[in-house]
Amino acid sequence: MTVPFADLQLQYQTIKSEIDGAIAAVIRHNAFIRGPYVDAFEREFAAAVDVKHCVSCANGTDALYLAIATLKVQPGDEVITTAHSWISTSAMITHAGATVVFCDTDGATFTIDPAAIEAAITPRTVGIIPVHLYGQAADMDAIMAIARRHGLWVVEDCAQAHLARYKGQQVGTFGEAATYSFYPGKNLGAMGDAGAVVTNDDALAEHMTMLARHGGLVKHQHHIEGINSRLDGLQAAILSAKLPHLPQWTKARQDAAKVYDVGLNHIEDVMIPSVASNRTHVYHLYTIGHPRRDALAAHLNSNGVQTAINYPTVLPFLPAYSRFGHRSEQFPNASSDQKRILSLPMFAEITADQQRTVMDLIRTF
Ligand SMILES: *Cc1c(COP(=O)(O)O)cnc(C)c1O
Repeated sequence: MTVPFADLQLQYQTIKSEIDGAIAAVIRHNAFIRGPYVDAFEREFAAAVDVKHCVSCANGTDALYLAIATLKVQPGDEVITTAHSWISTSAMITHAGATVVFCDTDGATFTIDPAAIEAAITPRTVGIIPVHLYGQAADMDAIMAIARRHGLWVVEDCAQAHLARYKGQQVGTFGEAATYSFYPGKNLGAMGDAGAVVTNDDALAEHMTMLARHGGLVKHQHHIEGINSRLDGLQAAILSAKLPHLPQWTKARQDAAKVYDVGLNHIEDVMIPSVASNRTHVYHLYTIGHPRRDALAAHLNSNGVQTAINYPTVLPFLPAYSRFGHRSEQFPNASSDQKRILSLPMFAEITADQQRTVMDLIRTF
């Protein structure tokens, strides 16, 4: 048996008529850019994640740019983020005009360590971007307390954490704004690129909307120099068709994670993902730790099981950040995690047989 890392085709087959109907309707109405399907998805997604405004855009990377740029960073301003994320998080800090400051993770949840944030604050710090990595909420009480104490803004990167909660409250509702990606493989995925920024702040929402739409809200009235970052009608209609299924898909991921937890927990050398109390994990990725990670990955891959490493090099050590001259001692947890992490097949439709195959191979290894 082969086990894919994810299976987008299978998900499509389960809701084919809904997706096909949505696409046909957009074509029939010529509603390709903006229009009723985009407006509807923005309303529906805002309601689903408990926020007032959803500003859709072209992808999750643009969403980060729109949020950070709207918070008006100046050259020399420092924005703190985690060492362990996808590069969009840190790259958009730079592109918005600020300086990236990396912090280590907490050693248990793969999310940013609040103590490391506190230690990284300088008089030039203006904001914090926690990432709810793999689908588990970062420690938002501690992060918000630090932000309040030092007068900093917070933008949550929720690209991997649709519907995750911290103490019962949805991620994306703690900071000034939060960003989402609807890349096809994300927990809520389009059939192409798509993203959104959410906020409860009317003024921020208006500025982000202008910034994403050539600097204005009305055609030919350009109040600022914006960019062109749009969610298109086809993607919006596809996302609206999928959104009602998201709670059930999330539950299926959580059930599959439980199966892995029980089956892998007692295997020597396997470190299963740990979920902190009062947080939910929506398992965008199910990532284990193993001291012989590369050999384990080769064993799984040669037996038909696809795996991934998220990510092989943590951010401070990428060539893109060689200018900082970071050393591994500055990020002990992220440094050791990058050598042992391995993401196993995880998707809502994964079967018990597929999971048994994965677990048996790990056991025999
Ligand atoms: C996917 C992802 C992004 C970027 O989203 P795109 O839609 O691919 O641009 C940003 N941050 C994190 C943590 C991600 O996983």
